[in-house]
Amino acid sequence: MSLVTSRTNLYLSYKRTDEMEKIVKQLQSLAEENDFTIVPSVEDANIIASIGGDNAFLQATRKTGFQQNCLYVGVSTDSLGFYTDFSVQDLKKMIHAMKNAEVEVRRYPILEVTVDNEKPFYCLNECSIRSNVIKTFVIDVFIDDLHFETFRGDGMIVSTPTGSTAYNMSVNGAVVDPTLPSLQVSEIASLNNNQYRTLGTSFLLGPNRTLTLKVVQDGNDHPIIGVDNEALSIRHAKQLKLRLADESIKVLKLKNNSFWEKVQRNFLSKPNS
Ligand code: NAP
Ligand code: MN
Repeated sequence: MSLVTSRTNLYLSYKRTDEMEKIVKQLQSLAEENDFTIVPSVEDANIIASIGGDNAFLQATRKTGFQQNCLYVGVSTDSLGFYTDFSVQDLKKMIHAMKNAEVEVRRYPILEVTVDNEKPFYCLNECSIRSNVIKTFVIDVFIDDLHFETFRGDGMIVSTPTGSTAYNMSVNGAVVDPTLPSLQVSEIASLNNNQYRTLGTSFLLGPNRTLTLKVVQDGNDHPIIGVDNEALSIRHAKQLKLRLADESIKVLKLKNNSFWEKVQRNFLSKPNS
């Protein structure tokens, strides 16, 4: 049976440019010919389609509030990325795949970030905390209740498994299988001397751990905090609590396009392909 028979309300998330409007028009008419209804509001949607790159997909999840009752699907306008399984060049293939059960639903763990006592934020790739000046800053790092280390340097990245191939990878973090619910903690340029010492390698935390980052209030204590591709507007954060969210997001993907196939396609270029 088709996966999408009872899920035909489609919400489209994209950057409103003239070029994109043209692409979206095409998608819209093809979708309507195939019994999908395009809905103008997320509340009425069963499927949320992002059109653009991985960047657009990150924006789509954020702007629609990480909907639990929807399936997300990434449609690329360029080459296929990590969150995009389909391409605008081949929309017919996408519709065909949806109608013929050549797709499956994968759950991607997301990160819950609580800054001080604010309402939590969610991230699909990572949360990063970075000095906003050309000076180091200091963080006390706690794993659950354990004061694990005191970090001094440029900052830290806490990534989800699907975010492990993004910012995390640039600082030599490991690539993590998204079927492994975990969060990865990576350093950005830690300063190590007799006073400050950190583990120096990335580490993975299991789903029941909480990581607390306390910004030491020493004058340089206004770091910038990034959630996926946005900076939080909070200017003076004292403490971040990070854990895997209880919920995950559901993403529609092609059956023959596993995470490891994406990693191979994007990082291990093969001759003649
Ligand atoms: P960007 O700086 O314009 O682009 C970052 C690149 O990362 C883009 O090519 C983007 O793909 C790709 N990307 C996004 N998520 C990915 C994932 N999960 N796995 C592999 N590649 C991924 O920023 P952006 O497009 O707004 O994307 C935001 C992300 O950039 C952040 O979440 C962070 O992970 C990453 N970032 C990386 C660094 C670094 O590596 N030094 C620094 C800051 C931020 P598309 O072209 O398809 O959008
Ligand atoms: Mn980008």
